[in-house]
Amino acid sequence: MTPESFVFQALSNRVVFGAGSILNVKAEADRLGMRRVLVLCTKQQTEAAELITNHLGDAAIGICARAVMHTPVEVTKAAVEDLRALQADGIVSIGGGSTIGLGKALSVRTGLPQIAIPTTYAGSEMTPILGETEDGTKTTRRDPAILPATTIYDVDLTMELPHSLSVTSGMNAIAHAVEALYAPDGNPIIALMAEESIRSIASAMRLITQHPKNTEGRRLALYGAWLAGTCLGSVSMSIHHKLCHTLGGSFDLPHAETHTIILPYATAYVAETVPEAMAAVRRALKTGGSAAEGLQQLAIDIGAPTRLAEIGMREEWLDRAAELAVANPYWAPKPFDRQAIRTLLGKAFSGERPR
Ligand code: NAD
Repeated sequence: MTPESFVFQALSNRVVFGAGSILNVKAEADRLGMRRVLVLCTKQQTEAAELITNHLGDAAIGICARAVMHTPVEVTKAAVEDLRALQADGIVSIGGGSTIGLGKALSVRTGLPQIAIPTTYAGSEMTPILGETEDGTKTTRRDPAILPATTIYDVDLTMELPHSLSVTSGMNAIAHAVEALYAPDGNPIIALMAEESIRSIASAMRLITQHPKNTEGRRLALYGAWLAGTCLGSVSMSIHHKLCHTLGGSFDLPHAETHTIILPYATAYVAETVPEAMAAVRRALKTGGSAAEGLQQLAIDIGAPTRLAEIGMREEWLDRAAELAVANPYWAPKPFDRQAIRTLLGKAFSGERPR
């Protein structure tokens, strides 16, 4: 990107990164004035939450293991009751985007500060964005009050992330970076972060696929996820995220897998209109082919899904999905066209090579 004119708005949060960095959780809670901390997690990650309560010592007042995918409002309401009953004055969320989403929903409703400790590469911890579901509808909003006050990235907590989750989560993060490269409010700093993010995560995914406990791979993945989350939190989303929000929100497809499959096709859709962004993706992936082909090849190489048909989508839903996607479009460098989007979804359904 040529830095001719742009606006750059820094995110106002604090990041602590490194192996073993959860040892700092008590000091970080103290910095925020937290004295009565509720720790959030999913049912699957209560052990990780217990580790955090041990580090918090007397400041921990309990664990709330209610977090589930898509941040349902009824779950948030029950967790608000937990916070009130325990008179909590701070929240620590340990887990993936679902747990951090619950923390954001609680924080924005109660004004309590949140420390986010991500254990996937989804990037939610770095964004002032909250997606919530109610009566089967997903709504997304941005508000500076949603951004967690502090994020602790501890590589050690990601060592056991299963391979299937690691690779789709990594591709989810790459998707944030790719869209940031052609966002209407993009800027040179975000472009640098985005390219570095794609480079780091692509290398990391190949290392983790060879050896899931490769320390360098895990470090690069978390570093790239931080950069990708910063990109997503700083600039607007476009056609790729719109398609994934439609497929996830209305057809209940799994979040990270949907991002993984759609990314090459959304990239191919806009490619001609954003050549500088495509050049950055190609450089980061070190591919001689197109950016879209490079992204799909990466997914194939790391054993990630490449067809909507394999993650629960049905062919008879494709027309409706195209209609929903164009009904309320996000900004895109190439206009949303119902027929073209239907063709894109058809290719993503069968896994045809993106062009
Ligand atoms: P997730 O949080 O739903 O986690 C998936 C599963 O993996 C859960 O059972 C979790 O407990 C488990 N898990 C997480 N880390 C683990 C680890 N290290 N080891 C073993 N198991 C682990 O999945 P996700 O992809 O991180 O998040 C998806 C959600 O995040 C979606 O609801 C999405 O909308 C949201 N999201 C929001 C933003 C935002 O900016 N608002 C950004 C990205 C994702």
